[in-house]
Amino acid sequence: MPEKEIGKPLGIFGGTFDPVHFGHLRLAEEAADALGLAGVRWIPAGQPAQKKSPKVGAPQRLEMVRLAIDGNPRFELDAAEVDAAQTSYTVPTLERLRQADVCGTQRSLVLLVGADAFAGIGSWHRWEKLIELAHIAIAYRPGYPVDTASLSPALASLFRDRFCTDSLMLAESPAGRIATFAMTQLDISATRIRTLLSKGHSTRYLLPDVLVDHIQAHHFYSEI
Ligand code: ATP
Repeated sequence: MPEKEIGKPLGIFGGTFDPVHFGHLRLAEEAADALGLAGVRWIPAGQPAQKKSPKVGAPQRLEMVRLAIDGNPRFELDAAEVDAAQTSYTVPTLERLRQADVCGTQRSLVLLVGADAFAGIGSWHRWEKLIELAHIAIAYRPGYPVDTASLSPALASLFRDRFCTDSLMLAESPAGRIATFAMTQLDISATRIRTLLSKGHSTRYLLPDVLVDHIQAHHFYSEI
């Protein structure tokens, strides 16, 4: 990451990425601009806590993310959760990032989530700790409203207390605020891509060509 970017917040983007697609890539790219991020650290889950077993193994999902983000100077890949080969929980992941030899305690970290993921945060392991470790930025996603009426009371209360309208405020502290940002609305999901592949249908233009070819070469998702 260039030195002039060091004082800016770092985006943290975790997911199963089974497989990574243009919805993920535009979320990260647009978050970097909208929130003034130095860059985005992609963290594929080893064994995700919230989902049924991914259809493709962790090293293979990691490799797909590597191929997808290759050449983007604002993106970096964090393989630690995959290497750990155990269930990935976001709070321990952020605690790892807060260690002195990774990001330290003072760096502004912004956890990037889609609106569907945010609505489910109340079920995450030790979720109340999240906001002490990072800011949270919520991307609008087709079909998932970002309004307190659709959230659990505890999460709605956190949202109201921590919401900031000016995303530049994310740079002023290491953690503790919640922001939203608009992104190009792409109704793409990994589930839909897996379904298309299982039927032998095309997935071109839903994810990078390099992944379309990679998935085909490795016969990923041919059955689900
Ligand atoms: P699946 O369909 O298997 O549930 P997914 O496409 O939702 O997968 P994940 O790896 O679970 O992908 O998502 C990682 C993060 O990306 C989550 O925070 C999710 O909300 C967000 N995300 C995924 N797709 C989009 C999209 N099209 N627009 C906005 N955010 C998205």
